Amino acid sequence: MDRDQLKEHLAFAAELGVRGVSRDPAWRVRADLAPQEPMTVAKTPAEALAALRVHIGDCTRCKLHTLGRTRIVFGVGNPEADLMFVGEAPGADEDAQGVPFVGRAGQLLTRIIEAIDLTREDVYIANVIKCRPPQNRNPETDEVGTCEPFLFQQIDLIKPKVIVALGTFAARTLLQSIEPITRLRGRVHEYRGARLIPTFHPAYLLRNPSAKRDVWEDMKLAKKLLAGD
Ligand code: URA
Repeated sequence: MDRDQLKEHLAFAAELGVRGVSRDPAWRVRADLAPQEPMTVAKTPAEALAALRVHIGDCTRCKLHTLGRTRIVFGVGNPEADLMFVGEAPGADEDAQGVPFVGRAGQLLTRIIEAIDLTREDVYIANVIKCRPPQNRNPETDEVGTCEPFLFQQIDLIKPKVIVALGTFAARTLLQSIEPITRLRGRVHEYRGARLIPTFHPAYLLRNPSAKRDVWEDMKLAKKLLAGD
């Protein structure tokens, strides 16, 4: 491209409103594009998770923000946890408080965590999607597609050794499988550098207490994997 062609090209770009390409020496500095605050580079998983939360903001990326959600339920717990739990989506209690698994199912999850001698503060808890679907319906494909990358980032920052997928929806979505939870559980799956154990959702256990025995087996397996066995 000769000088005249370049001049014409830049004039056309300017006409189109394209910024950031100019022969003006000031462009090289581009003070208007420089961040007002000095950029902070996250040094720890906690800082990186906090930056991700800021990035998500008061999210309007999918239709759930128009369907009655109150709060984004980002995730809670130890940013450097070895063990992470992933559920489906926030329910009414979680939507009200902005914290995952705080309703009846959440209280049962807390007891499950304590059964392997850990606390909620030791682990990290999140959901496949961060906003409550109306009437607690299953998350829809477009909602999962929009939101799931944030969960992936959380997993990649926390780097848990073991992920427990709570319930059919979380297990199927994470593993991209259509198999029922009864076939997915009882096996260890590899997932984003972690060992993934599918188990029954605590809400299912509230309705089917006899399945607690299977969950206990899954939790013992999680504990064994955490110990490096
Ligand atoms: N069920 C879920 O899957 N997630 C929650 O946070 C609460 C209930």
